[in-house]
Amino acid sequence: RFGSDELKKQFLTPTIAGDFVACLGISEAGAGSDVANIKTTAVRKGDEYIINGGKMWITSGCQADWMCLLANTSEGPPHRNKSLICLPMNLPGIHVAKKIDKLGMRSSDTAQIFFEDVKVPSRNLIGEEGKGFTYQMLQFQEERLWGAASVLTSLETVIQETIDYTGQRKAFEQPILHNQAVHFRLAELATEVELLRSLLYRAVALYVEGNDVTKFASMVKLKAGRLAREVTDSCLQFWGGMGFTSEVLVSRLYRDLRLISIGGGSDETMLSIICKYMGTLPSK
Ligand SMILES: Cc1cc2nc3c(=O)[nH]c(=O)nc-3n(C[C@H](O)[C@H](O)[C@H](O)COP(=O)(O)OP(=O)(O)OC[C@H]3O[C@@H](n4cnc5c(N)ncnc54)[C@H](O)[C@@H]3O)c2cc1C
Repeated sequence: RFGSDELKKQFLTPTIAGDFVACLGISEAGAGSDVANIKTTAVRKGDEYIINGGKMWITSGCQADWMCLLANTSEGPPHRNKSLICLPMNLPGIHVAKKIDKLGMRSSDTAQIFFEDVKVPSRNLIGEEGKGFTYQMLQFQEERLWGAASVLTSLETVIQETIDYTGQRKAFEQPILHNQAVHFRLAELATEVELLRSLLYRAVALYVEGNDVTKFASMVKLKAGRLAREVTDSCLQFWGGMGFTSEVLVSRLYRDLRLISIGGGSDETMLSIICKYMGTLPSK
């Protein structure tokens, strides 16, 4: 939204075409929820920025062609001293230190990356210097709406697969699904999924109209994370021992969807934002 046409052509077009893999470099070992506290610096020297520091938890960091990097470009106040920079990942001084071994999302690599005097042209700056924090907060709204949208199908699928499995699996001479505790619970979960969908659609409609949807996007993300945990946990239980194996989708979603309450801002960060909009967050 804020980058030059040249940057869009160089980085966005090939990424959308599927020729480049992009990654987002915000979180650091010492600053995840507290984004304002990142320590990576990009110091302007002539026509270049010299980057030093490191990033943590970077999705696709092991294979990315470029990173959208958030770094401190001045010593000013933390919300006005940051900038977003398009950083090609093949530059000297970029070290992908490790691929992190994770509970879930195992088909997606997650990297820790260090920068040592990495030189990048100053024209790779996105928008205005010092506006990076604001741009990033805007991006988070879209990421959080997307995060919720991306789980809807998984939740529907896991409920349907659980109906199918418990409908044919028998215990005490009747399908497990015929126990009211099971079919009522699945009905409740399906209802919750529809509520999530409605809140998401409402937030997206407001966003498309050009409104600030920070509060709604945070509510949607919070609900998506919590509901994903509830649905996968309840469904897994109805699969019995099979649910605890690696052979079924429910166990994978139980692990993978656990990330939603953490990545892109934890549930507690969402609650803090909602409280801020409700006027109930105590000022420091
Ligand atoms: C698989 C995976 C992929 C990721 N991909 C990326 C990526 O591509 N790019 C990127 O930049 N980052 C990425 N992240 C990082 C993610 O955004 C952070 O993990 C997340 O923001 C939380 O930061 P943290 O892990 O440092 O937790 P911390 O900030 O250490 O917080 C730990 C916990 O403390 C609690 N907490 C924090 N603040 C508060 C508060 N105000 N009130 C109450 N409780 C609180 C929460 O429960 C939180 O989960 C990824 C993370 C994972 C696990």
